[in-house]
Amino acid sequence: MTLKVYISVDMEGVSGVVHKDHTSRDGDDYQLARRLMTLEANAAIEGAFDARALEVVVNDSHGTMRNLIPELLDPRAQLITGSPKPLSMMQGIDNTFSAAICIGYHARAGTSGILDHTMSGRAVYDLRINGKSQGEFGLNSGIAGYFGVPMVMISGDSAATSQATDLVPDIVTAAVKEAVTRYSAKCLSPIMAQSLIKEQSKLGVESRELIAPIKYPTPTTLTLQFMNTAMAEIAEMIPGVERNNDVTVSYTSEDYLEAFKCIRALLIIAGTL
Ligand SMILES: [Zn+2]
Repeated sequence: MTLKVYISVDMEGVSGVVHKDHTSRDGDDYQLARRLMTLEANAAIEGAFDARALEVVVNDSHGTMRNLIPELLDPRAQLITGSPKPLSMMQGIDNTFSAAICIGYHARAGTSGILDHTMSGRAVYDLRINGKSQGEFGLNSGIAGYFGVPMVMISGDSAATSQATDLVPDIVTAAVKEAVTRYSAKCLSPIMAQSLIKEQSKLGVESRELIAPIKYPTPTTLTLQFMNTAMAEIAEMIPGVERNNDVTVSYTSEDYLEAFKCIRALLIIAGTL
């Protein structure tokens, strides 16, 4: 079977990135940050090919999802760029992949780490899967697992990698920085971060058969605690969405992907109020 590797690349967990001046398109340091992001993606691509991958698909998973610089990206990989995408940070994953890698990931909303948030810093106070708080890694692991694909490697700040280990104990990690506060970190130099990511990606792909895909028990309930009541009031109008309290709604489904898409749509419809 062709060894295909999937790579989801976010930005907040890239070494050197600590502020929205890095992560917003209109930020003064954005061009610097997108270059560092692309170089970390390249390190993971290289690691995957070193582990004998024959095909690598990279999905730009941050903000507008138009951050990775196409002409700088390793030409052996294919790039999914732009948004919206139905599976968002996991667009393009399916059951033909053998392993998934997360690069540049960050801590979930409400936990100490660089630029912690879950999906939307403006709208989401907390997100729970079957009652347990999860960040983007937890959500995306469920999508990969839906297709039988294990998350084999994660890079990001040490908060992101330790949260990933809570869910997937055998995942290979690359902590490229350690938060001092939400907006400051002790960082590996880009060259050292990239070399660590390359090595750990290779190891992760080689370990793929030892790492179980995440399958959340069904029916699966996704619970969204919004930042304000207006968001919950609008979200509640969608058929099937339950209002749990003033700021919280939930959606339950036998199909994890359906529940994920519902939450994604709720954030688009109600997340900017
Ligand atoms: Zn991001």
